[in-house]
Amino acid sequence: MARSTFARIIATTLFLCGCWIAYTQSQRPPAKLTLNKVKPDLYEIEGDGGNVAAYVTSDGVILVDDKFEQDYDNIMANIKSVTSQPVKYVITTHHHSDHSGGNVKFIASAEIISTLNARNNIVERKQPNAPANLVPARVTFTEESDVFLGGKEVRARYFGRGHTNGDCVVYFPALKVLHTGDLMAGNTPLIDYAGGGSLLEWAHTLDAALKLDFDTVIPGHGPVTDKASLLAYRNNVEKLCRRAAGLIREGKSQEEVGKVMAAEFGWAPNSMQMQWSLPGMMQELK
Ligand SMILES: [Zn+2]
Repeated sequence: MARSTFARIIATTLFLCGCWIAYTQSQRPPAKLTLNKVKPDLYEIEGDGGNVAAYVTSDGVILVDDKFEQDYDNIMANIKSVTSQPVKYVITTHHHSDHSGGNVKFIASAEIISTLNARNNIVERKQPNAPANLVPARVTFTEESDVFLGGKEVRARYFGRGHTNGDCVVYFPALKVLHTGDLMAGNTPLIDYAGGGSLLEWAHTLDAALKLDFDTVIPGHGPVTDKASLLAYRNNVEKLCRRAAGLIREGKSQEEVGKVMAAEFGWAPNSMQMQWSLPGMMQELK
C-alpha cells in the first residue's frame, strides 16, 4: 500500500513536471510583435523570438524565419496588415526554435527551405531545450538556394560555420538588404557548439557575407542596422576569439576565461554564452 502510494506520487510528480516543461516550451502566451517597414515591400517583424523578414510579391510572401509556434497568429496578423498575399516560402536561417518554431504551422501551406545542416540539426534534435514538434525544411541546399516569386528574387547563401554549422544569410539583391540570422545577434556572439558552431570560423564566414552588395542589415535579434555595424560585429567576434585563444593557450582555466569574457565582452553569469559557448571554446581554441 505504502509502495503504491509512493509510486502514484512519483508518477503524478513526473506528469506535472512534464506538463510544466511542455507549457514553458510551447504554450507561453503570445508576445506582442512590432512590424517595421525596411524597404519597399520588405518588412521586419520584431519581438519574442528571432527577427522575421517578410518580402511581399504579387504572387505571395517570402518569409525569413518564423519565431516560436505561439507567435504564428501574430506574425500572420502583421503580414495581413500590409498584404492579402499568402505566405508561400519560409527560409529558416538555422535550427534554433526561436527561428524555426513556427514551421510546424507554416508547413501546411508554405514550402520551407534551409541548409542541409540546419535540417539535420532539427532532425537530430541538436538543441537540447527545443520543443518536440520542431519541423525541418522539406527543401535543403548546401551553398545557395534562390527563390523567384512575382518578379522578385531572394538568395539564401551558406558561407560556413559560426553560430551553428548551418546558418544561412538571406540576401535581397534588388533592395540591398541582408538578413544575417544569428550570425549577427545582440552585442556578443553565442557559439552553439552542440549545433556545430565555431568561434574560429565565424569572422571568416562574415567576411564572405560582407562581400555582398548591401547597405541594410536585419540581424537575428535586435534592431535593423547597417553594413558598418555588421563589420563592427565581425571585428568584435575576431577580437573575442583572439582574446580567449590567448588566455586558453596561456593555460587559464574555464572559470578564468569566463571572468575575462564577462569583464571585457559583457557575458552575464549563467548566460547562454557561459553555458553553451565557453566549454566548447576551451576545446576549440586550445
Ligand atoms: Zn540561434
